Amino acid sequence: MYAIAIDGPAGAGKSTIARRIASQLGWLYVDTGALYRAVGLSGLRRGVDTASREAILPLLPQIKVELCYRDGEQRVLLDGEDVSEAIRENPASMAASNVSAMQEVRDYLFDLQQQIAREHNVVMDGRDIGTVVLPQAQVKIFLTAAPEERARRRQRQLAEKGIQVDFNQLLEEVKQRDWQDSHRDAAPLRQAEDAILCDTTHLDLDQSVDQILQIVKERLS
Ligand code: C5P
Repeated sequence: MYAIAIDGPAGAGKSTIARRIASQLGWLYVDTGALYRAVGLSGLRRGVDTASREAILPLLPQIKVELCYRDGEQRVLLDGEDVSEAIRENPASMAASNVSAMQEVRDYLFDLQQQIAREHNVVMDGRDIGTVVLPQAQVKIFLTAAPEERARRRQRQLAEKGIQVDFNQLLEEVKQRDWQDSHRDAAPLRQAEDAILCDTTHLDLDQSVDQILQIVKERLS
């Protein structure tokens, strides 16, 4: 099986780009952030502090997180309920970042991610795919963009859904998540030694996809 690992901070365009690349190659797109978001959401729904290990770890044996594909689109199930939309709401982002700092949560989701890659050719995006989950991936991309550009993109995405959020608030959240994701002890966000750095600050979507497809073709040929 072949795997392309795409890691990088929130808002660099990972999911859109990875989805497009998977569709071009006819491979499965796996958004691993959705798994952490589902665990975070389970904490939010129970009204517990998602930054507290004492509150989150006892939940793990009680919940079931699964991925499935409907019409080629990844759906994430929490205890059998499709929560693919609910996990995109703003509180779930910080909750995901909180729970993802806990090694036990990462261990809990590790097998699920590896199993999918054993059974399919995948384009998998996340924070630790090239470093921890699929260190054997044939292609590793570290996708990034300036924080201001990432906050702007997030603002546009939310505006398209009719949600208005202050730019400075989004920028603060982007920076806070970056800091939290790259300073945690458990699988901190970092570029794998053999990953190729792609900065999309000044690239649009088509340009980013083209650049990465070019790298993929070179690596796989
Ligand atoms: O990619 P997305 O923003 O949906 O991820 C939500 C959160 O889950 C991130 O802030 C990050 O902390 C965490 N995450 C992770 N490892 C992954 C994917 C996501 O720690 N492979």
